[in-house]
Amino acid sequence: MPRTTARRTKALAVVAESHPPVVPKARRTLNFGGKWEYAPAPESVVVKPDAQYELFIGGKFRAPESGVYFPSINPANEKMLATIAHGSAKDVDAAVAAARKALAGPWGKMSGAERGKYLFRIARIIQERARELAVLETLDGGKPIKESRDFDLPQAAANFFYYAGWADKLQYAFPGRTARAVGVCGQIIPWNFPLLMAAWKLAPALACGNTVVLKPAETTSITAMHLARILQEAELPEGVVNIVSGAGDTGRALVEHPGVDKIAFTGSTEVGKWIAKATAGTAKKLTLELGGKAAHIVFDDAPIDQAVEGVVNGIFFNQGHVCCAGSRLFVQEGIYSAVLRRLRDRIATLRVGDPLDKNSDIGAINSRAQLEKIRSLVDAGVAEGGELMQPACALPAKGFWFPPSVITGVTASHRIAQEEIFGPVLSVLTFRTPEEAVERANNTPYGLSAGVWTEKGSKIFKTIAKLRAGVVWANTYNKFDPASPFGGYKESGFGREGGIHGLANYVRLE
Ligand code: NAP
Ligand code: MG
Repeated sequence: MPRTTARRTKALAVVAESHPPVVPKARRTLNFGGKWEYAPAPESVVVKPDAQYELFIGGKFRAPESGVYFPSINPANEKMLATIAHGSAKDVDAAVAAARKALAGPWGKMSGAERGKYLFRIARIIQERARELAVLETLDGGKPIKESRDFDLPQAAANFFYYAGWADKLQYAFPGRTARAVGVCGQIIPWNFPLLMAAWKLAPALACGNTVVLKPAETTSITAMHLARILQEAELPEGVVNIVSGAGDTGRALVEHPGVDKIAFTGSTEVGKWIAKATAGTAKKLTLELGGKAAHIVFDDAPIDQAVEGVVNGIFFNQGHVCCAGSRLFVQEGIYSAVLRRLRDRIATLRVGDPLDKNSDIGAINSRAQLEKIRSLVDAGVAEGGELMQPACALPAKGFWFPPSVITGVTASHRIAQEEIFGPVLSVLTFRTPEEAVERANNTPYGLSAGVWTEKGSKIFKTIAKLRAGVVWANTYNKFDPASPFGGYKESGFGREGGIHGLANYVRLE
């Protein structure tokens, strides 16, 4: 036995003595919390959303043609934050016309260097307003402030900075070819990273000289409308970006509009499939970033504490409202009980509560509908024979909450191992050989991301070569950089966002 393995085995034996054996029971409740209590640390920047948000078309805010508005609530307390304009097919038509007009105007003739200056300006204003935007994101979406402040906002600005740098260098991105704008792009985004998804979509499109009609998600439109103000402040020519809030029918009108040259969609696989059908046989270009069912593979030579921390971060980050959330954990049999003990101890220390408290690790579930979906999949997991472990944490009386949850005894055929849950729920499975791990990890309709944990570099490369996933992290998880492409295999979609690959979606090459 190599010396390192011997040392690790000994260390594990000590841990095993100091913990009670894991005897999973259905729906057992753990109580490891309460050792340390943090004093409340509410965010000090107080931001009040506007009472009402209008549509942003042709550089101006205007009421929806139908006069219809819908409420946006704070999912942490169910209080109404604002009313949001519901854009109809007529509003979408006006937005597409404004985008077409802008394309024929100065924007369409502008040099890449000039376009880049607008993007740099937008990036800088986002940075300046980061705190205020982070608070609005947390109020409207329910994610912890430490996440919107430390992840969403810096990443949103970084994407504009990154693509600003490409605007005058497209000839180097596509050597020997001339890159022309695609035209009017319809962009439809989900609720899990509202401002960041807008940045992912807008920045490359504008760098390549396109104009855009953006449709934010129904439950999280507020930061998109504040972004519209930033675009005004940056003096982006009118009509280059139009933002039409609304519901599914607004998105549908955008997809079906004959004046749109490209659709970029991030959202569920179900809606993505409908969009693929609706655009088939048309001249519209299409990119789809859809759901995921990511697997972690933890080999028995992995650094266990680091792996558990990465797995916890990968599923409980943003309440599991992440398309690349690692919702399946495959553990090599020999270390199963050691991993499970550490997982159990770690989830008991996660703080669930007020998203505006800087100490909260897990905030509110984005909507009642999403909470119901999580509950029904967890119930199905237990009904199919899984054992549910949840820490005993007190959840607020109002709002939508779900505790961090681990389900053991899951098999590949269980719904919980196959369907995207989009919540803070981790299913644990085991494997014996590397071949079995890869086969089981690949056994879903999705293929967005995966995590591999081992101390052997060769094992990392062998494993990732066989994993059918667009992004594989090794000995880390959920690391993002605007220069790295991101996207899926199989039913997780096609096309890449981020990096030089992200430019390719927004150009026609001549
Ligand atoms: P969703 O229901 O598909 O909605 C996504 C967006 O599409 C929303 O703006 C939605 O509007 C709109 N929409 C709904 N029906 C439409 C239709 N028929 N035509 C055009 N647009 C339509 O997804 P979601 O529940 O908001 O988001 C969660 C999903 O997004 C998850 O499956 C997750 O994996 C995926 N996601 C993927 C990535 C990735 O990069 N691969 C990133 C983030 C999220 P309303 O909000 O008004 O319904
Ligand atoms: Mg909301």
